[in-house]
Amino acid sequence: MNLLSQIKEIRSKISGKILFDENLSKYSWFNLGGPARVIFKPKNLNELSIFLKNIKGFSNIKVLGAGSNTLIRDGGFNGIIIKFEKSFSHISLFDKNTIIVGSSTLDKSLSNFALENSISGFEFLSCIPGTIGGGIRMNSGCYGEDISKILLSVQAMDLDGRIKVIYASDINFSYRSCNLDDNLIFISATLKGIKNNKEKIKKKMNSLIERKKKDQPSRIKTCGSTFKNPENNKAWKLIKDSGCAGMKFGDAHISEKHCNFFVNNGKAKSSDLENLIHQVKKEVFNKTGINLELELQIIGEKT
Ligand SMILES: Cc1cc2nc3c(=O)[nH]c(=O)nc-3n(C[C@H](O)[C@H](O)[C@H](O)COP(=O)(O)OP(=O)(O)OC[C@H]3O[C@@H](n4cnc5c(N)ncnc54)[C@H](O)[C@@H]3O)c2cc1C
Repeated sequence: MNLLSQIKEIRSKISGKILFDENLSKYSWFNLGGPARVIFKPKNLNELSIFLKNIKGFSNIKVLGAGSNTLIRDGGFNGIIIKFEKSFSHISLFDKNTIIVGSSTLDKSLSNFALENSISGFEFLSCIPGTIGGGIRMNSGCYGEDISKILLSVQAMDLDGRIKVIYASDINFSYRSCNLDDNLIFISATLKGIKNNKEKIKKKMNSLIERKKKDQPSRIKTCGSTFKNPENNKAWKLIKDSGCAGMKFGDAHISEKHCNFFVNNGKAKSSDLENLIHQVKKEVFNKTGINLELELQIIGEKT
């Protein structure tokens, strides 16, 4: 039986949505991307497990969080996109400073929850527009903080539909990356902060949010930093010093406010953004000898 027939058969066993050939542009902050062969939106863990067991052996599967770090190519994704909905965005207090959170919870919601419960350490999450799942995969962070510093464990499902608990002490986190297997689907996480005064937490959150507003553009179609900062350097500065500020490809532009933020100005194609990325990478290498590494995740098929 082929994949589509297998999936159509599973449909009767589960209530979560299964979509075919749905356009992915609304699943990425760039607002770009062709259709996905299949999108599955499980209602609960049991459904996710049943689904994975029924398509055993098929591994072209990608989870999308808020899509705030993912460029989806114009040719779409010739596999299965897993997209968690509300039932995976639960948050609860485990003890006085430990929180258990579903992987599709927005970073900002977790940060607010920590504030309400007088737990410090989560303030930086108020500045990141992604989900906890994406944050763990990317080891997202800002202003000296990142997820690895507050993570105790991640609960994940493998492609055989089995649940695993992975302790943070067994994960190698580095700048905007971790060594967790690409095939793991994070379902929830346990994170720990420090009890603190609510006023102090609020003050820190506000100052980080203000700093972000000053440093970075908002209300644009972007996925944040395109390249990682090389050691002891800043990607935006290398891009600027290499004469790339103002560079564009079709409607794919470099933000005037932050040279490492690339933008879909309205009518760009994903290929325009990829061309811009390659051109900037080349210019920076030619001028500085530094090979910029992508922070942005690119998925899907070229047209
Ligand atoms: C305006 C703006 C500002 C930003 N500022 C920052 C910043 O300050 N610091 C920073 O680090 N980033 C920043 N980012 C980038 C982005 O918000 C983060 O990387 C964020 O953590 C990505 O989360 P997401 O849910 O959107 O992930 P997505 O883009 O949906 O996915 C990113 C990766 O995570 C994987 N993934 C997502 N969910 C799961 C899951 N449940 N299980 C397994 N894998 C999963 C995806 O497969 C993909 O590989 C910014 C982006 C924007 C648009």
